[in-house]
This record gives sequence, structure tokens and C-alpha cells, in this order.
Amino acid sequence: MAGEKNVLIVAVPQRGALPPAVFELITAAKKAAAATGGTVSALVFGTKAADFAKQLGERGAEKVLTVSDAAYDSFVDEAYAAATAAAAKQEAAGVLLLAASVAGRSLAARLSVLLKAGVAAEICEISGSGGALSAKRYQYGGNIVAEVAFKSDVKILTVQPMCFEAAPVEAGKAAQTTPLSVPAASAGAQVASFKADEAGEIDLGAAERIVSGGRGLGNADGFKLIRELAHTLGAAVGASRAVVDAGWIAYRHQVGLTGRTVHPKLYVACGISGQIQHLAGMASSANIVAVNTDPACPMMDIATLGVVGDVYEVLPVVISEIKKRRGA
Ligand SMILES: Cc1cc2nc3c(=O)[nH]c(=O)nc-3n(C[C@H](O)[C@H](O)[C@H](O)COP(=O)(O)OP(=O)(O)OC[C@H]3O[C@@H](n4cnc5c(N)ncnc54)[C@H](O)[C@@H]3O)c2cc1C
Repeated sequence: MAGEKNVLIVAVPQRGALPPAVFELITAAKKAAAATGGTVSALVFGTKAADFAKQLGERGAEKVLTVSDAAYDSFVDEAYAAATAAAAKQEAAGVLLLAASVAGRSLAARLSVLLKAGVAAEICEISGSGGALSAKRYQYGGNIVAEVAFKSDVKILTVQPMCFEAAPVEAGKAAQTTPLSVPAASAGAQVASFKADEAGEIDLGAAERIVSGGRGLGNADGFKLIRELAHTLGAAVGASRAVVDAGWIAYRHQVGLTGRTVHPKLYVACGISGQIQHLAGMASSANIVAVNTDPACPMMDIATLGVVGDVYEVLPVVISEIKKRRGA
């Protein structure tokens, strides 16, 4: 597939639905296609593929390939990679875009081997013109910007959630949908069942609002208050490494250098001092509220709004005020 310029969006479903990050890929793909001069198509999986194709079409995807076999209802990277490689070949796609989710990262690695492709991981910007494509990746909370260029013919990009605007729904838009013929999934592994760890939990990576707790909570029980505020705001729950290491909350909630990188519209840091390793994962949040007893802590320096006080005094007042204003 030397030098192919078409762009393929790999729309990996999550728990039976398309995550918001997939709609952001449409915007990213249009930028990539403008640089390469190619077309954009998308690939969807599983028995809900026709519905996914409709959702992508309403948001401006022009062509969607469907792999509707029930074997693709659960994510198995081996089977997904084989189908994606077939789609890339059929569409003459030289650029593949995936959300930088756990599944997207895993799939990108496997596709890189299958397609002899270079991977630009967790990118936040796409640029280029005249057929060339490059991407930017923010590190250390945006203090370092790495510009990534490709040497390979096929280029794979995993895109950080919340970096591109989700393509809006446009009335009357629909995609041309084509079934992709792939050999029956023959992965060595298959998913027997799936049990969500905490039902209804909002995924940190794609969250527009996050309430995070740190050592200032004093103990694991403090997360009851964090969860209550998060629930009230419709937010995801984050944490500092200190409390993850202490076993107060699971690792998947960790924000920072060795945890998740997040870009929410609102990040509420409760009892988190703001060490550089934590800031590396959240400093690019649009609005930061710090609740801390120490007015001189580093989190206060980057906060949009700093509240000097004890989390156990401040949060109950905030929760009750929000509920009151909503008439609950
Ligand atoms: C290689 C490496 C990687 C790392 N990766 C990460 C990472 O990914 N993420 C991460 O978070 N850290 C990471 N760390 C750890 C990081 O350096 C800090 O130790 C950690 O972020 C501190 O967590 P904290 O802010 O919860 O705790 P502390 O630094 O102890 O801060 C607690 C804060 O709570 C405040 N406080 C105390 N009581 C209250 C109260 N009642 N109400 C309100 N405020 C109160 C205090 O004033 C203080 O500011 C890493 C470290 C290393 C060396």
C-alpha cells in the first residue's frame, strides 16, 4: 500500500455503543484527508454495525464499511486487526485513525506489525499538506510538544479523546454503507463474558468533567464524597497516584504521568497538591478547580478557581448547593 492517501477511521465500540471519541475521529480524519488529498471511510463492527454506520453517517462520514458478524460484538484485537487490515487494503487506506483507548492502543500495535506501519500514539493535533502528514503529541501537561513525522508508507495514529471537536449531527446526512467481506473471525481468543467493574461509571479518558481525590482525603472513605460530587456533576472519578498506591481506589482512576492523560472541560482537584507528575496528566484541562487547605500548593498556581478549605467542609456545601439549584 505504498504511499496510499485515503484515511480509514477504525470505530471500536465500547460496551455495545460507539464512545464519543469515535465522533471526534471524524473531525481528525477530515484534517488528515485534507493533508493527504485522500478520501475518508470508516469501519464498524458487530451486530449493531448498521446502527453505528447510521450514527457516523449523520455526523458526516461519507462511506462506512460494516463487519456485522456477532463474533465482533466483543473486542478481540486479533480478529479486529485482521478485519481492519482487510478494510485498509480494500479502501487503499494509508492513514488509519483510532481513539487512544485501551482497545485502540492495543489494536494499533497489532496493526503496526500487520501493515508494516509507523504509529504516532496519543496525538492531539494533525497537520500537513501536499500529501505529507505530521502530528503533535503533548507531554508533561503541554510543556513539551513532540512533532511526529512518519517514515512508513502506512501511518497509524491513536488520537487522544477531547482534542478534536466531535463532528456534529447534520440533518439529512447519511453514509454509503457497504458490508466488508472478511473471513470468519478465527482469533485464538474469544470473550466468554464481560462484567463491568463499577456499573454506570463514566470513562475518565472521554469525560467532560472529572472530580479527583488525593491524599488530602485522609482515607479511602473520602472517595464516597468524591463519588457523590462526581455523581451530582455527571463527572468521572479521578485520583492521584498517592491514593492509588495506598489502595484507596483502583489504578484505572489514576491521572498523571504514569496514569491517564485527560482533557476535560472541568477538573476538580480535591486534596491534591499538584506535583508535576499529576499535572502532566491534567494541566491542559479547560477549567481547574482546586480545593485544598494549603493556599500555596502548586495546584493553586494553575487553578482557574482556588478554594482554600477542608474538603470535608467544602464539598458537602457544594453538593447541597448544586442539588438545591437543580430543585432536587
Ligand atoms: C516516576 C513517578 C511517576 C509518578 N506518577 C504519578 C502520576 O501519574 N499521578 C500522580 O498523581 N502522581 C504521580 N507520582 C507521584 C507524585 O510525585 C506525588 O507524590 C503525588 O501526585 C501526590 O499525591 P497527592 O497530591 O494526593 O498527595 P500529597 O502531595 O500528599 O498532597 C495532599 C494535599 O492534600 C492537601 N490536604 C490535606 N488535608 C486536606 C483536607 N482536609 N482538605 C483539602 N486538602 C487537604 C494538602 O495540603 C496537600 O496539598 C509519580 C511520582 C514518580 C516519582
